Amino acid sequence: MRVEVPEYAIAATVSVDPARTGLVIVDMQNDFVRPDGKLPVPGAEETIPRIRELMSFARQHGLTVIYTQDSHGADDPEFEVWGEHARIDTPGWEIIEELQPRSDGGDLVFRKDRYDGFFGTDLEASLERLGIDTLIICGTVANICVLSTAASAAIRWHQVILPLDAVSAITDFDMQLTIRQVAFLFQGTITTSAALQTAAR
Ligand code: ZN
Repeated sequence: MRVEVPEYAIAATVSVDPARTGLVIVDMQNDFVRPDGKLPVPGAEETIPRIRELMSFARQHGLTVIYTQDSHGADDPEFEVWGEHARIDTPGWEIIEELQPRSDGGDLVFRKDRYDGFFGTDLEASLERLGIDTLIICGTVANICVLSTAASAAIRWHQVILPLDAVSAITDFDMQLTIRQVAFLFQGTITTSAALQTAAR
């Protein structure tokens, strides 16, 4: 079967208000990023430099940097679907070295045991407390944790920005369906990591 991908626009520049914007780095953990991880995602390693650029942008301009970390206990039911992965306190569970959160507590890390970064976490309350209504969402896996988190943000009326070169997927189809959902259903902005700039609203 062949399907046609509907057209979408890739924004050449995107202005964000640093005070109201968070950079969300989804599940960039050894199990998903490294070739010898439990569930490696092709292309995830290639996104590391792009995500580092996004981190620099965020730190330079004072955006809040937010991490999600897939975190499972010993008998997590998700292991029946995916096999064991991201088990708490294993090396595979750790966020990759290149994208470590700041040690001074300035970054927010949310451990989650489902795909959606909002599910069972304090993410929503934290965004409210910080006055953040716009999320730049990057990381992996595109159609799983990235899309679930983007969807959850959008139904809360947050603005979603998806920098394509900082997101990795298992297949092209998965990537395209992620873009389609964010662009069309959730009225998000599709762009690239170099397109971001700051502007106070
Ligand atoms: Zn998981």
